[in-house]
Amino acid sequence: MTNKIYEYKDGQDWYVGSYGIFGGVRTLTDDDLDFPLLEFAQRFRDEDRGFPVSVTVLRYGSLYRLLSFVVDILNQEMGRNVEVIQRQGALLLVENGQLLHVELPKEGVNVHDFFETSKVRETLLIATRNEGKTKEFRAIFDKLGYDVENLNDYPDLPEVAETGMTFEENARLKAETISQLTGKMVLADDSGLKVDVLGGLPGVWSARFAGVGATDRENNAKLLHELAMVFELKDRSAQFHTTLVVASPNKESLVVEADWPGYINFEPKGENGFGYDPLFLVGETGKSSAELTLEEKNSQSHRALAVKKLLEVFPSWQSKPSL
Ligand code: IMP
Repeated sequence: MTNKIYEYKDGQDWYVGSYGIFGGVRTLTDDDLDFPLLEFAQRFRDEDRGFPVSVTVLRYGSLYRLLSFVVDILNQEMGRNVEVIQRQGALLLVENGQLLHVELPKEGVNVHDFFETSKVRETLLIATRNEGKTKEFRAIFDKLGYDVENLNDYPDLPEVAETGMTFEENARLKAETISQLTGKMVLADDSGLKVDVLGGLPGVWSARFAGVGATDRENNAKLLHELAMVFELKDRSAQFHTTLVVASPNKESLVVEADWPGYINFEPKGENGFGYDPLFLVGETGKSSAELTLEEKNSQSHRALAVKKLLEVFPSWQSKPSL
């Protein structure tokens, strides 16, 4: 008999598994995996042979994903209907409305926060009206067990003016103001281009470098004009930057940031992307970011790097108690 092979793979997690081989979970990575097999596995154990699933971890990102992978196999093979739900950093196993098991993070969870809401799946509000940006974040946070909404779900909220002098100030302003107004967990980002020889400009003014309401073409023309006397490419070094802030009421906000290094070309090239992409040469590749496919850009950009960092620290931040 050949066993069906199951696989889950994304940017952060990669698992291969099979049912009917009594191996449990093993890892080919350095991660110190503390898989919550004990009580959970008892429910599915075969008296003689043990846990009926064998999983190999090739890349480990989140316990939620790993547990969901194992539960999917059990559901398919045993006709079960178990769901994994993320709540305040704890993982809940629920079947047909019955809570079967709770896996707590090492630090525990705050009792008040944990029992405060009757909604089981938590919501993350993205502080943007841009559906494209929301779609990117939804793809990431849905896999971690969160419902994702954006400001279009809250038409009465006021616009938060980006009056900060730094990316962090702006991202904090958006995340913390909206979190206070709605009582929700809110993620905000602020991005832009920093050119070294211009002392970091256009920076937080990237969208309005050539004036309020300027088009991408006008901003690019202004940038080329500012760099007209910088003749060597090596002197035109720059970074795309992203700061992400997650805010929750009565909690110290979580801040991560990332840079994507490159150079400003002497003329635009490439058709893809937006903003300064046609002028930004990626690293030492000589290719502009407008010459990358969406997938290529999304796997290496400043936003991708910042999200990767966020995912590393988000679970332990989330399980921290409120102030
Ligand atoms: P936002 O904070 O993501 O809205 O970005 C502000 C501005 O920075 C945009 O209007 C663009 O001009 C520039 N920018 C940010 N990210 C990128 C990018 O990935 N490519 C090109 N331009 C970008």
